[in-house]
Amino acid sequence: MSLKHLFSFGRSMHCDAVMAVLQSYLDGETDVDTARKVARHLDRCADCSIESEVYTSIQHHLANRPFEIDPEIRARLEAFGRSLAHERPGSA
Ligand SMILES: [Zn+2]
Repeated sequence: MSLKHLFSFGRSMHCDAVMAVLQSYLDGETDVDTARKVARHLDRCADCSIESEVYTSIQHHLANRPFEIDPEIRARLEAFGRSLAHERPGSA
């Protein structure tokens, strides 16, 4: 008997409840019982599963970013973006 089967009885969580604790769950801050319920729900609910993947990928992204963007570079990019917005090629 798998663990999944073992915990398949009892009340299941609603999407709202899962969303409320999803971030804590992904951070490993929920208690074991809640973590099990969330994991079980994610296994069955495509919507919440996608949501958790988005969270995970964002966290992964943030965790792997070696350093903050240099403010000077950011300012240059913003200025570049503004110049693109204002200087549209007239002939094309
Ligand atoms: Zn759900």
